[in-house]
Amino acid sequence: MAFDLKKLLRPHIAELKPYSSARDEYTGKEGVFLDANENPYGSITEGNFNRYPDPYQYAIKAKLSIIKDISPSQIFLGNGSDEAIDLLMRAFCRPGKDNIIILPPTYGMYEVSADINDIQIKKVELSPDYQLRPDAILAEVNEDTKIIFICSPNNPSGNKVKRADIMTILSNYDGLVVVDEAYIDFSDEPSFIEELPHSPNLLVMQTFSKAWGLASLRLGMAFASEEIIAILNKIKPPYNISGLTQDTVLEALDNTAKKDKMVKEILEEREYLKSRLLALAFVKKIHPSHANFLLVEVPAARKAYETLIEKRIIIRDRSKVALCADCLRITVGTRAENERFLEEMSLISKQFD
Ligand SMILES: *Cc1c(COP(=O)(O)O)cnc(C)c1O
Repeated sequence: MAFDLKKLLRPHIAELKPYSSARDEYTGKEGVFLDANENPYGSITEGNFNRYPDPYQYAIKAKLSIIKDISPSQIFLGNGSDEAIDLLMRAFCRPGKDNIIILPPTYGMYEVSADINDIQIKKVELSPDYQLRPDAILAEVNEDTKIIFICSPNNPSGNKVKRADIMTILSNYDGLVVVDEAYIDFSDEPSFIEELPHSPNLLVMQTFSKAWGLASLRLGMAFASEEIIAILNKIKPPYNISGLTQDTVLEALDNTAKKDKMVKEILEEREYLKSRLLALAFVKKIHPSHANFLLVEVPAARKAYETLIEKRIIIRDRSKVALCADCLRITVGTRAENERFLEEMSLISKQFD
């Protein structure tokens, strides 16, 4: 299979003349800046936000490039992973003509973003143990199939996807393969970033929203070839990452030890939650998890969900989702939160004795 990025790209994006911002045209740090119509006196708040931020977030990428062992030119930062997903659709998929393939049960944003952009969606369900079915996926590909979205570890099932199956897709499909690794920090699986040198059609997504504890900042990462990253940079809103976010993330990247410590605690807490849930009579199954949540099968998921809501304990009812009949998705909380949840779950369980 030959990957041809030019052929994949929408022609008008190839021709596009991007917006050139004040900070694009002069990148020096020192000087008298009278170019961007900013307020020279400062901000009305305590912090100073009067200057536009770095449009390409070079300082963050310099640090990330060391942590992730990849060139800064192969990193894109978006306003959440959601921005990267949307930009990929807009760069590669012609509305009303092209299609993407998603693999239910999976993350909801791929479908929503495709719907917003009027892009056809082909669905190939995972196997009953939530693994890829490479033959079935490849059979769905046609000449208008631009992107295949794979989520590993998968949301909502929590398992990691077999590496060999993803490799099969990568080498037998000549469109773009997105591997969404939002939960990679909770898994023992190495990131697909290490496959980038031999996989020109691969894009890996990660996020600061989960393990890093920075969901409110909205910062997602995409890693791919320099050429693919250049396309995302070309079509993104000029100042898509705020200065406040950039400053905060720079600080976070100096403290990866704290992230690692929190991940370790969440993993210990996940095992505790799992063992306590398994002791409840009405818990039929807990799916193996490489993430910070558990997919739990019970006899009456909707009823359990509603009873918990009355007690102000909020989990996710996934029972209407493909291959997730009677399943609840439970995010691992602190020990105190987990105890509150378990207390109510054991009361619900007793009704099924
Ligand atoms: C939570 C999550 C994300 C993160 O999205 P952000 O926009 O970066 O917060 C991405 N993909 C999956 C599968 C997720 O579950």
